[in-house]
Amino acid sequence: MTKLSSLVLVVSGPSGVGKSTALAELAELAEVEVVVSVTTRSRRQDETDAVDYHFVDEETFREMVSRDGFLEWVTYDGHLYGTPQRAVEEVLERGKVAVLEIERQGALAVKRTFPQTVAVLLEPPSRGDLEARLRSRGASGEFLDRRLALAERDDPMQGDLYDEIVTSAETSETVEALVRIIETRYQPPAPD
Ligand code: 5GP
Repeated sequence: MTKLSSLVLVVSGPSGVGKSTALAELAELAEVEVVVSVTTRSRRQDETDAVDYHFVDEETFREMVSRDGFLEWVTYDGHLYGTPQRAVEEVLERGKVAVLEIERQGALAVKRTFPQTVAVLLEPPSRGDLEARLRSRGASGEFLDRRLALAERDDPMQGDLYDEIVTSAETSETVEALVRIIETRYQPPAPD
């Protein structure tokens, strides 16, 4: 019988809040595996295929949808993003914590499928801080405006979807907060 009882940790937050940096550090923990999403958006210069995302074209993405390959998928800012179902199951079968970096609609869908999901919202200390972080990774003009608008639009809609809210100022503090959440909620599988 497959063990699917271990923890799913969903981490959401606006672009630029520092999710990827924090999760790269969190992934160093032996009991944690970050699941790599699939997307049709183009790769940024600082990103690596199969590490940050599996970058695919729309046809490939749609094929995966028709094969039921996604646990959930959404359209966000004109691009498709999806969580590969099998990758999540494999992490859970290994008895580890599956970490997903996804937006709120996806978080809701994952919570429905896996009731053991803990959803965490990372919030920037301020809008100014978020804008500075987005600019520092090269965002400007219309793209910057759109991402800031999306962050604001999403904010009041969080409702009670999230189990924990973490203000993300320093990466080390964010990682510590996530580790504490895992320690409180995760029970490693008993040896066979
Ligand atoms: P970005 O383009 O900045 O990497 O990501 C845009 C948004 O899509 C972020 O909020 C990110 O968390 C979300 N996202 C990334 N992968 C997935 C996914 O597989 N599913 C869902 N629902 N959202 C995702």
